[in-house]
Amino acid sequence: MEPLAPAALAGLTPPEVVLRFFDDRMEALDYAAPTDLVALSVETYCAKRAYQIATEYRRRGVPVVMGGFHPTLVPAEALQYAEAIVIGEAEETWPQLVADWRAGRMQRVYRQAARPSLRQLRLDRRIFAGKRYLPVGLVEAGRGCQLRCEFCAIHAYFGGTQNRRPSEDILAELRALGGEHKLIFFVDDNITSNMEQAKAFFRALIPLRIRWVSQCSIHAAHDEEFLQLIKASGCQGLLIGFETLNPRNLKQMRKGFNLMQGGYEVALANLRRYGLRIYATFMFGYDDDEPEAFEATMAFALRHRFFMTAFNQIVPFPGTPLYQRIAAEGRLRFEHWWLDERYRFGMLPFVPRGMSAAEVEQRCLEARKAFYTFPSILRRALDLQVNSSNPRMLFNFLSANLLMRRDARKRQGFPLGDAAFKGALLKTRLPV
Ligand code: SF4
Repeated sequence: MEPLAPAALAGLTPPEVVLRFFDDRMEALDYAAPTDLVALSVETYCAKRAYQIATEYRRRGVPVVMGGFHPTLVPAEALQYAEAIVIGEAEETWPQLVADWRAGRMQRVYRQAARPSLRQLRLDRRIFAGKRYLPVGLVEAGRGCQLRCEFCAIHAYFGGTQNRRPSEDILAELRALGGEHKLIFFVDDNITSNMEQAKAFFRALIPLRIRWVSQCSIHAAHDEEFLQLIKASGCQGLLIGFETLNPRNLKQMRKGFNLMQGGYEVALANLRRYGLRIYATFMFGYDDDEPEAFEATMAFALRHRFFMTAFNQIVPFPGTPLYQRIAAEGRLRFEHWWLDERYRFGMLPFVPRGMSAAEVEQRCLEARKAFYTFPSILRRALDLQVNSSNPRMLFNFLSANLLMRRDARKRQGFPLGDAAFKGALLKTRLPV
């Protein structure tokens, strides 16, 4: 899918600065192209790859700037591999950085003090020209979440706050996207973080007659007005973090709100009444998890015939309360798992309590495979009320499930970063 952060940066860059955008997920980078400054948007899973890319550019004498979640959550680490970093959101700091760089006085750190207004957010999607992204229009209606789940990097980054764009700005962007995109994905971390604002936004969406998907927390599904509005505004499906069926784990996660007002069963019955499709995500390895949790969760997921699921081992992201707790308890298997040569995709980076790490990893993999077997896909495809309520949805369901089936098998054991990268990562000599 189109990455929004580079388009947002492009929209904030003065027009006289010539930009070239590479998407490292799908094309080779042209390190030899004349370049004055490189900006990398870095998440923890791609930190090692970002440092490899930075090394290639910095070996050629090109200065590198990094921003995004990872440099914000572990700035001292990112500063070792970049001439400058941007901490926090970039709406105000990026224009300042570019101006300083052009004047030859770029600083080491640009820190956003308070949450910036999103009123001026203007994406420059011209940078996506010629790249073959899915025909899904990604749009940001709001950023951050007011909840504070222990494991969540969103709340570590945004400090338990949410910022929303004015509805008129979002509607203008949706109109500009026109019929070009078949489906809109509101990439908000939690579109229901503020229910009253969410409802006002859904009301404003209704006349546009778009089709959209997003992410939300399940407590919203107990609000009848919310259900009516989200359906009327064109919502097709929601990603919901169930995380676990175990109330003790939910409490430790600070996510006990998942069980309010009758919990999952009542909420799911409500969502089904409105034909909303669910991408349910679960995580394993929390302190009260035992082997039986896998069978119970799989039975739950199959009974509710979820459109899609994710069965993930817990990954403590740096800067989160979970990471700090696990580190303080001396349970990290790899202190900096995102850079550790031994760490691979699908591994649990810490020692769990109720099972071994290997058992959690193996059972997660088995659960992913089991949910996407052909009999499971077929049975869920026959959910004509929700998953396959029309031929287009049947097509979408089959495409998504076959993709996830392949993904479940191929991703396991994948190295982080480019395994073919040669040499050591190049550190700066500048003060950290
Ligand atoms: S509700 Fe979701 S986005 Fe909000 S803090 Fe919890 S996990 Fe993070």
